[in-house]
Amino acid sequence: MDYNKLAELLFPEIDKTPDYWEQKYKDRNLPQGAEVTRYAPSPTGFVHFGALFASLVNCICAKHSNGVFYLRIEDTDKKREVEGGVEGIVNTLKSFDINFDEGQSFGGEYGPYIQSEREEIYKTYAKELVKNGKAYPCFCSEEDLSQMRETQEKNKENMGYYGKYAKCRNLSFEEIEQKIKNGEKFVLRFKCPYGENDKVEIDDMIRGKRTIPQNINDAVIIKSNGLPPYNLAHAIDDHLMKTTLVIRGDEWFPSLSEHLQLFEALGFRAPKYAHISPIQKIDENGNRRKLSKRKDPEANMDYFAENGYPVGAVKDYLMTLINSDFEDWRAKNTFASIFDFDFSFKTMSASGSLFDLVKLTDISKNYISHLKNTEVFDLAYAWAKKYDENLFKSMTNSKDYWLGILNIDRDIPKPRKDISHWKEIYQIYSYMFDENFDGKVVFPEKFQNEDIKKVLEMYDSFYDEKDEQSVWFNKIKDLSEKIGFAREVKEFKQNPEAFRGHCGDVSTIIRVAVTGREQTPNLYEILKLLGKTRIKQRLQKVLQNFE
Ligand code: GLU
Repeated sequence: MDYNKLAELLFPEIDKTPDYWEQKYKDRNLPQGAEVTRYAPSPTGFVHFGALFASLVNCICAKHSNGVFYLRIEDTDKKREVEGGVEGIVNTLKSFDINFDEGQSFGGEYGPYIQSEREEIYKTYAKELVKNGKAYPCFCSEEDLSQMRETQEKNKENMGYYGKYAKCRNLSFEEIEQKIKNGEKFVLRFKCPYGENDKVEIDDMIRGKRTIPQNINDAVIIKSNGLPPYNLAHAIDDHLMKTTLVIRGDEWFPSLSEHLQLFEALGFRAPKYAHISPIQKIDENGNRRKLSKRKDPEANMDYFAENGYPVGAVKDYLMTLINSDFEDWRAKNTFASIFDFDFSFKTMSASGSLFDLVKLTDISKNYISHLKNTEVFDLAYAWAKKYDENLFKSMTNSKDYWLGILNIDRDIPKPRKDISHWKEIYQIYSYMFDENFDGKVVFPEKFQNEDIKKVLEMYDSFYDEKDEQSVWFNKIKDLSEKIGFAREVKEFKQNPEAFRGHCGDVSTIIRVAVTGREQTPNLYEILKLLGKTRIKQRLQKVLQNFE
């Protein structure tokens, strides 16, 4: 067969040669060891937790090595495309500080960065493969192929288009010419040079060295619409864009040998690969399973924005999933950027990290506890503006009061860790707002009604807004003594029979009376913020309910 003639017949519109593109896309001028990585989503608008995970690893590897991280849109599968999908993805990543050095809207010398605009490039290389006798047109219909699959299933044979099943491998030039004249549609297939017993050794950055069976399938490399599927596009793009390291989901691992064959056939050097196992979770029945787009709301990154988990916390959480030693590092480097962390593939899980909302909540509480009250306010306020009208109004009308609330137990060596996401912030401090206070509080059973009443009736005369914390607490002790409670807890413990309770009990009665809760942050600060008038009103309300 005259392969040159065949190439002209199949791709008459292509007048360029691979050399043209090789000249156009020069080697990158980067320092030694610099990694060129990319995030290559399909424009579905949706960023899956696993995808963010992968893009973060890609971004870190590029940043760490003074390399390049670029965005490539893989839109050759038009069926999956969503309008505005690219902006959606870029915005989500941006909100996580994952920024690109190159891409269609970021500039760069290696574009177009959108696959649907690279048809001419793909076809140039496809034509070259035909010229070299490494690819051929296939006219098999869907019915032909499903019949083939049925036979293979029945005979328990390897599935795919290979050996005796690869019928179109043997078409003569004349037959091909005739079919094209008849207007028959065709795809281009790669003529796989390997057989059933061939093996290939691969070296994955996460999984290590492995020997896997060679692909034997004559894969489709140009679809009937003229665009390549992922396999050929991946090889050509990553070659021409000078990608050095491909970090992607492990759903691609089984096709790795096919991809490597294409690199080989095209004369390209393959990049390094790291295949990331899917993020898993423990489901309702206690089983470990893949985080699912369909079943798990937290699989969609919008979930974290909607619930108001701060980006910094989610990033920290992602980092703990990426590298198990991140948490120790973070404990020592509270305020450092995640990009300063010494990332390594070696400490990455080859079996898949486990998503755990409880853990995220803990990390988030820790993260928020280290922010200033003004930072917490700004983040929560921005969230409320978008997602919670009531909270937004409350924060707008009572900014200083909120700042005060958010400052309680904050600037201290062990700051309070109570807020994990903005959606619950109002609920956490609801008792600070009169609209939620009806005076119907429930005191712990151990207190006698007459003691509670005494405290409620007398406290107003003991409270002075100007008192320092120590003075304030002394007055609680004075009150305790007046009603037959011990001034000191120790005193009470030594001789419990002699007292009706102790100063801590008096605090608890006051706490429950003004907040309705037994557990709150620093009571002194709460009382100060509420102010004398409001305290008095609350105590009266409780007393009324009491009678
Ligand atoms: N478009 C592919 C995907 O979304 C990209 C895989 C890769 O990173 O190479 O899975």
